[in-house]
Amino acid sequence: MTEALQGTVRKRLFIGLIAGTCLLVCALLAMLWVVPYVGLRNIHPSAPWVLGVILGALLLLVLWASAGLLLSVVLPWPLPLARRVRGVTVKLLVPMMSLLGRTLGFSKEDIHTSFIKVNNEMVLRELGRYEPSRILLLVPHCLQNSRCEMRLTHDVDNCKRCGLCPIFGLLELRDRYGVHLAVATGGTIARRIVVEKRPKVIIAVACYRDLSSGIQDAYPLPVFGVLNERPFGPCLDTTVPLDNLEAALLRFLKA
Ligand code: SF4
Repeated sequence: MTEALQGTVRKRLFIGLIAGTCLLVCALLAMLWVVPYVGLRNIHPSAPWVLGVILGALLLLVLWASAGLLLSVVLPWPLPLARRVRGVTVKLLVPMMSLLGRTLGFSKEDIHTSFIKVNNEMVLRELGRYEPSRILLLVPHCLQNSRCEMRLTHDVDNCKRCGLCPIFGLLELRDRYGVHLAVATGGTIARRIVVEKRPKVIIAVACYRDLSSGIQDAYPLPVFGVLNERPFGPCLDTTVPLDNLEAALLRFLKA
């Protein structure tokens, strides 16, 4: 399957799961109002309507976010309130969508990859271009050759540039474009780096699982995700297509 076709399939999976999630949540909210209706009337005659207004507002929020999200995936231009739609998607819809997807038998990898694909499209539409100092390239330590003893998490310049792993190529990209480059061993270090560098956009490299959770943790900061390649399995001597990374950098860099 070509990469473009894979992208379309992932997008369709995401659209289908979001539409299903939206329907389920709306049905659940309607039930939450109908089922206790009689009991609430005994407490106070207007109690069912107070609950109805609250649940109605939630229902409208879910419908608005789902419709906004589906439109932002389908339309080629950015919608008003695109950032808010991304927020509701990341914080509310994706956890529910993952649950629905797993129940329907889709693999975690398919679900997370479809989310990363759609997130990237939303980020591309929403964001402009920035000075190099406001762009952070955040990569995982598993890109480092497993036999290399240099400590890179505190200072990536400890790399001796021997060329045995992709860190060498990443340093070249950093030097060519003047962006920040950091190696993180986990979420805590990644958060510290983000606080220190204060980027406007993060271009993050990781596996589907870490990228998906990183995108959710970092919100409202936008994260453009690039999947790493794992020829030796997870977390060992992984690689990254540097061409894809350079193309992403050029998209966000001010000319
Ligand atoms: S390029 Fe060489 S020195 Fe640098 S991290 Fe990779 S293996 Fe270590």
